[in-house]
Amino acid sequence: MSKILYVVVPCYNEEEVLELTTNKLTEKLKNMIKDGIIDKESKIMYVNDGSKDKTWELIEKYNKENKFVTGVCLSRNRGHQNALLAGLMTAKEYADIVISMDADLQDDIDAMDKFIEEYNNGCDIVYGVRSSREKDTWFKKNTALAFYKIMNKLGAEVVYNHADYRLMSKRALNELENYEEVNLFLRGIIPLIGFKTANVEYVRAERAAGESKYPLKKMINFAIEGILSFSVKPIRIITSTGFCISALSFIYLIYVIISHIVNNATEPGWTTIIALICLFGGFQILCIGIIGEYIGKIYSETKRRPRFIIEKTILQDGGKDGKK
Ligand code: UDP
Ligand code: MG
Repeated sequence: MSKILYVVVPCYNEEEVLELTTNKLTEKLKNMIKDGIIDKESKIMYVNDGSKDKTWELIEKYNKENKFVTGVCLSRNRGHQNALLAGLMTAKEYADIVISMDADLQDDIDAMDKFIEEYNNGCDIVYGVRSSREKDTWFKKNTALAFYKIMNKLGAEVVYNHADYRLMSKRALNELENYEEVNLFLRGIIPLIGFKTANVEYVRAERAAGESKYPLKKMINFAIEGILSFSVKPIRIITSTGFCISALSFIYLIYVIISHIVNNATEPGWTTIIALICLFGGFQILCIGIIGEYIGKIYSETKRRPRFIIEKTILQDGGKDGKK
């Protein structure tokens, strides 16, 4: 039996592109239904992220004219990641599979067939991966590359060149719901869910209309969010720096004392001052680092992420529901 697909599209001030996106997605859904790939109850779900233009009015209008269009409206602008989560959590109540994509048609909608093929092969999460970034500006390409490199060095497992174009099964979405963190960085959280996954390559096009809603400031915030919510390594670096400085100051202290005794050539008081400055400087950084470690622990605790996810259970014989 074919599955119900919901395509979740977060929109922030997207009035210029919405009609085109609706037409393209409607046509795509119709074709997929005709080919028996997805169920006829499949829908597009727009999430209006507090747009200041006519985006929501347009969504309401399309909803009246087009049976494929549904919408969710957020109370205010909460940013792409939160809008996306709102859409995913709403859609999973109605859908078997959900694909998330941007409103600007940069993601190749024809890759959806391959997404569903992978889902039918048993994958719960399918990542859309850009095969090239030729259409991006030099600046965007290189900052993005640096971002993935830093993230991976810091130990967060992000899929290289994958934005938020992906398929998730209902089961994966139900698990995503358990990640209750407020600092949302879906690209880092979703790989933590596990299950069988696959990558599907596609060519990323230019924005179909309108301007990027991710100016440099938002991009920097997004990168910091990604790093800080996935790694305590920056804190570790402080601790190690403090430790090294302390060790070096200690060696220096010994040198200063020896030179004071041996050649007695220093100004009176100099030795003590230098030695104490170095020692306390190093010691203070070390202490800050240690406090930081604790804050890091508290930080990850307050997120209350699930400690494990059970994929399957084998029920024991004899007891009702496996309970003896
Ligand atoms: N978006 C959103 N809320 C925001 C900013 C962006 O919902 O505060 C949406 C936007 O409408 C688009 C997607 O997130 O569907 C990605 O934004 P954009 O295409 O502008 O980013 P870029 O592709 O330039 O990185
Ligand atoms: Mg875009």
